[in-house]
Amino acid sequence: HFGQIPRVPGDPILGLMDLYRADPNPAKLDLGVGVYKDAQGLTPIPRAVKLAEQRLVDSEQTKSYIGGHGDAQFGALLLRQVLGSRAIALGEQRAGCTQAPGGTGALRLAGEFIAKCLPGRSIWLSDPTWPIHETLFAAAGLRVQHYPYVGADNRLDVDGMLAALQQVPPGDVVLLHACCHNPTGFDLNHDDWLRVLDVVRARELLPLFDFAYQGFGDGLEEDAWAVRLFAETLPEMLITSSCSKNFGLYRERTGALIAVTSEAQRLLDVRSQLASLARNLWSTPPAHGAAVVATILGDEPLRQIWQDEVERMRQRIASLRQGLVEALTPYGLAERFAHIAQQRGMFSYTGLTAEQVRRLRAEDSVYLVESGRANVAGLDAERLDALAKAIARVVSN
Ligand code: PMP
Repeated sequence: HFGQIPRVPGDPILGLMDLYRADPNPAKLDLGVGVYKDAQGLTPIPRAVKLAEQRLVDSEQTKSYIGGHGDAQFGALLLRQVLGSRAIALGEQRAGCTQAPGGTGALRLAGEFIAKCLPGRSIWLSDPTWPIHETLFAAAGLRVQHYPYVGADNRLDVDGMLAALQQVPPGDVVLLHACCHNPTGFDLNHDDWLRVLDVVRARELLPLFDFAYQGFGDGLEEDAWAVRLFAETLPEMLITSSCSKNFGLYRERTGALIAVTSEAQRLLDVRSQLASLARNLWSTPPAHGAAVVATILGDEPLRQIWQDEVERMRQRIASLRQGLVEALTPYGLAERFAHIAQQRGMFSYTGLTAEQVRRLRAEDSVYLVESGRANVAGLDAERLDALAKAIARVVSN
């Protein structure tokens, strides 16, 4: 049976983690893996989550299955969190939420839905994008194509993106990072989004927003700007929402696929398909993380605690971005690395080459992905000067 099975390479980021763990240098710095870290280098459970879990221990009555679309309370609250409490689509019952195991599960469900219900449509991804987008949609049977996003000069290429989208066949699906683009950290501004919206509308493309970092860019409401703009303007769209980062619920696999349709009746059709597809993927979703999110979002004091915690995470990242650019200033590198302070979210395409990344790892025990992507949350405010010195050395010779 198993004698002829070829071995496939492991995830390069996890391989980097193994190297990091084996490194005896006490000053080592992990800027690789994509989880939020606090000043102590830990990925803590938010206090609001702990409080909600304590409540659930006392109040939970059963561990019987939840429905195919998941926890209804979670769905209703997440729809408001993503689309805004005054969203027209909500008032008109044109938006529905299907809970999934994390943002990844939601993306896979979207992929399966497109493959089955919209056959022949390609999905267009930004170049570059989160590597799992590439493999996940291909695994769902979709043809994967790319539009330019960040070029070799490490700059956002909005004109290239728009020109490419203008050539996309009508009906195709365009994946858009709602905020905090992974891996680059480069986000579109409001004007850019309006231009993208024009093309998407004119060419009748179907937007699929990947919303994995709500609250990590400019704020919980601000980060939803583009998603809400599209939802108010276009009749139909898909959104995947992840609660992994902003609720710190990574391992609880909590997320959802949101469908917005032109009419309430169509939503029922779409949702019937989603439930049927989900049944073949994971049957019913895991309950705990969604119950935690519903408890927090449904309770004003808990929601306030959580919002403050998200805001603190966001500010920590923003100040580390600023701090690193300031630390690079004495080396005459502020301009060269100014983009680090302009980017949003946890990740930064630093512009460091693979060779420079390898030197940082070998000579300074600083671990980042060879694309030059750094997890800014992995930085330590106390050690920005040391890091700036190391960067200055590897970029100068
Ligand atoms: N989309 C993007 C862009 C991501 O970075 C991630 C997490 N790394 C996800 C989706 C999925 O997150 P999860 O499945 O952990 O909720």
